[in-house]
Amino acid sequence: MTTPSSLIVIGAGIAGLCIAAVAQSRGLGVTVIARDRGGATASGVAAGMVAPALEALTEPEPDIAYSRLKAAEREWQAQDAAWGKPLNALIAQARADADIRYVWPQSDNASDITTPRLHAMGVAFRALKDEELGPVASDCDGVRIEGDWLVSANAVLDLLEARIVEGGAQIIPGTAESISATQVRLADGTVLTAGHVVVAAGYDSAAFCGDVPALKTLSPIKGHLLELDRQGAAGVLRSPLGYLAGYGDTARFGATMQFGRADTEVEPAAVADLKARAKQILPDLDLSGAEAKAGVRAATPDGWPMIGRDIASGVLVAVGMRRNGYIFAPLAGRIVTALILNEDLPDDAALYRPDRF
Ligand SMILES: Cc1cc2nc3c(=O)[nH]c(=O)nc-3n(C[C@H](O)[C@H](O)[C@H](O)COP(=O)(O)OP(=O)(O)OC[C@H]3O[C@@H](n4cnc5c(N)ncnc54)[C@H](O)[C@@H]3O)c2cc1C
Repeated sequence: MTTPSSLIVIGAGIAGLCIAAVAQSRGLGVTVIARDRGGATASGVAAGMVAPALEALTEPEPDIAYSRLKAAEREWQAQDAAWGKPLNALIAQARADADIRYVWPQSDNASDITTPRLHAMGVAFRALKDEELGPVASDCDGVRIEGDWLVSANAVLDLLEARIVEGGAQIIPGTAESISATQVRLADGTVLTAGHVVVAAGYDSAAFCGDVPALKTLSPIKGHLLELDRQGAAGVLRSPLGYLAGYGDTARFGATMQFGRADTEVEPAAVADLKARAKQILPDLDLSGAEAKAGVRAATPDGWPMIGRDIASGVLVAVGMRRNGYIFAPLAGRIVTALILNEDLPDDAALYRPDRF
């Protein structure tokens, strides 16, 4: 455990598991400490969109946002040696099946904004014909976007867990209470040591801000989402009112953005709002079996992740993924591993340094 090439990862969401898989593929010995797993994490609640174009569309500088998000998304392919056969097959299928549409009410005049933005971003897209709008309210326009994709969040988390365990990693159920660059103390009193420690505990990483000052800057954004039965073909139908993500056998409609809220309690008012929005854009959507869930995203002051070493403590951090954990997690794996192995960092790494605030 105490060799320089050992790593303790705090958190088993998409960030922690991707870091563990990439580090392990580069020969590091990995231990993951996880209070929650799978569906109990924000990563398990997520819609699983890996959608640089859809995400950048609503950012203030869409072209800059797109180039950052796209560079991060490419790491899913660049790190393929870390994922193993089943996950690589799932990703290849997801890319091949991707049917990603963005639609808006004609009354919004969003065509005037959306099309120039997509051009500026350099994204391939084409206008949808009426018959391609599917179940969308009849007064909508839309485009089909290339390059974005969608996965089932829980399937990816399960495959990553299986992959790292198969590779010799230990996943220890427990809650970390205090940390340093090489040591973690759990709530039950156990003390673990390793060459390096990385915090990838989502918004709950903020609880370590006494040990790791950079984590003081995190803020929470709660999100509700509806879990639905199968709703037509797989793919994403996104609109300014919300998105329907279909996985074939199930679907999810999301999401609320509740700034400053860090609890996961399901609120009837938020659920009613989400259902009303769903009906406005998709009047025939079957909400009878809808089950609401809530998760908490972690955000930094500039809205971009914080990945790197906290200078004061020496602890590595991979947090602040906001609504893009499924885009940034493999890049987090690459940066953390490169820092440990003293390798060259990817070009964008400086943008995500913890000491930029
Ligand atoms: C409704 C909703 C929809 C979303 N949809 C998408 C989407 O389509 N695409 C996308 O990219 N992102 C999406 N997101 C955002 C995404 O969920 C997050 O960016 C991502 O889950 C962050 O992952 P994480 O691993 O950093 O944190 P988390 O998933 O929160 O995982 C944190 C882990 O740390 C553990 N932990 C916390 N504290 C401790 C402790 N003290 N000791 C030990 N373990 C601890 C937790 O138990 C958990 O295992 C969505 C989020 C929400 C809420």
